[in-house]
Amino acid sequence: MPICQSCGNKWSWKQSVKSLFRFSRKMKCPYCREMQYQSQDSMKKGSLVALIPIILAPIITMVAQLFFSLEPLFGFVLMIYVLLMGLFFSITPFVLRLSNEEEPLW
Ligand SMILES: [Zn+2]
Repeated sequence: MPICQSCGNKWSWKQSVKSLFRFSRKMKCPYCREMQYQSQDSMKKGSLVALIPIILAPIITMVAQLFFSLEPLFGFVLMIYVLLMGLFFSITPFVLRLSNEEEPLW
């Protein structure tokens, strides 16, 4: 779980997910109200985690078609994407690390 670099408080899973939903590198600490940034290292790990749903969704769709001879229903594919996105948001707080300053991505 991420730890605020300003006050040293550990963010809860819920607080981290809430910050992630803003889709910004800038995150306000719920304890000290200081701006925190996602660290360079955790940005890289985060993008790897983001790859999981992108890679898995077509595979799951294909497997489902092969084994259950399901038609590629739009609702079914959408459901898989939603499930995988949920998985992404559940995992990301574990790789999220904070920094006091905005670090260049590369
Ligand atoms: Zn703080």
